[in-house]
Amino acid sequence: MSITEADWGRALDAIAGAEQVALACHLGPDGDALGSLLALTIALNERGTKTIASWGSDPFTIPPHYTYLPKLDLLSPPESFPAAPDLMITFDAGSFERLGSLEANARASKWLLVVDHHVSNDRFGSINLVDPDAAASAVIVYELLTRMGVTIDADMASCLYTGIVTDTGRFQYRNTTPDVHRITAELLAAGAPHVEITQTIYNTHPVGYLRLAATALDKLEVRPDASLVWTWVTTEDLSRAQVGLEDIEALIDLVRTTDGADVAVVLKQQDDGRYRVSMRSKGASDVGAVATKFGGGGHALAAGYTSSDGNPHATIDEIATALRGA
Ligand code: AMP
Ligand code: MN
Ligand code: MN
Repeated sequence: MSITEADWGRALDAIAGAEQVALACHLGPDGDALGSLLALTIALNERGTKTIASWGSDPFTIPPHYTYLPKLDLLSPPESFPAAPDLMITFDAGSFERLGSLEANARASKWLLVVDHHVSNDRFGSINLVDPDAAASAVIVYELLTRMGVTIDADMASCLYTGIVTDTGRFQYRNTTPDVHRITAELLAAGAPHVEITQTIYNTHPVGYLRLAATALDKLEVRPDASLVWTWVTTEDLSRAQVGLEDIEALIDLVRTTDGADVAVVLKQQDDGRYRVSMRSKGASDVGAVATKFGGGGHALAAGYTSSDGNPHATIDEIATALRGA
C-alpha cells in the first residue's frame, strides 16, 4: 500500500505550519533510523524551523559505525525532549513501543507524523507516511524533502545514502529496485561520500569484533529441519572481546552466508540476561511473521524481537517450531 496524495498533503501542511518540530527515530538506531532522522532535521534547520531530535535510549550514544554522519550536534538526549510536542515526527519505527522512553511524548503530542516502511507498522500516527514497499525510511524522507522543495545538499545526501545502503544490504536485497538506484544516483550527484560511508560501516571494525566473530562462528549450529543456521553471543563473550552490542551488527551477515540454510539467526545477550534476536531470510521464509508472533517486528526478510529469557537453545527451538509451522 503506498502513500496517498492526501497523506502527503497533510504531512506537508503539518510541517509548514510548525514553529518547532520534535523528531525521533527508533531506539537502538541503525543507519536508516539515524540517516532519516538527521536528513529531515538538517533540512528543517536550514529553513529556520526549530528542531529537537533524539531517540529514547538509555544511555544516549551515537552508534560507533555512524559517527561520521554530519551535523550530529543537532541531536540531543531524550531528557531534553518536550513532554507534549505540537508536532512530533518518528522515523523507521513500526509501533509506539519502538520509541522506547519517547513513547509517552509521542502519545502526548498534538500531531504525530509517522515516517516508516515496516510491513508490521500499525499506523500509529495522526498522519502516516508509511510505505512497506519502500526500501528504506530514507526513501520516503527523500520524497518528502523533494515535495517540500528542499534542495538536497551533501549533508542530507550523506544521511539518506546511509539509510538506503544499510537497509538494502549494500544494494543486495530484493528491495533494491530501479527507483532505489535512481534516488541513489541523485544522492551521489548531490555529494554523498559513498566510499567513506561504506568503508566506515562495513570495512572498519574493532579487532575485538573479529575475535568475537571467531567465537560466535565456532559455536554455529545448523538445523536442517527448519532450514536454519544460528549462533549466540553472551555478555561474557562481549566483555572478553571488549565490544558492545552496537559493534556486532555485521555478524549476522557472516552467518547468513551458510549454504543450504534459508534463515539465519543471531542471539545477542543484553545486560538484563535476555537475548536480542536478529533474523534474516533468503526468501523462502517470512521471519517478520515469526518476530511479530514473539512480540517484535520487522520485514519479511529481516526482523527481530527480544526473547523472554536467557536460554538461547529454548529461544531457537521456539523459532524453529514457528518456522516449520509457517
Ligand atoms: P536487526 O536484526 O536488529 O538489524 O533488525 C532487523 C529488522 O527487524 C529491523 O527492520 C528492525 O526494525 C526490526 N526489529 C528488530 N528488533 C525489533 C523489535 N524488538 N521489535 C520490532 N522490530 C524489530
Ligand atoms: Mn531500523
Ligand atoms: Mn528501515
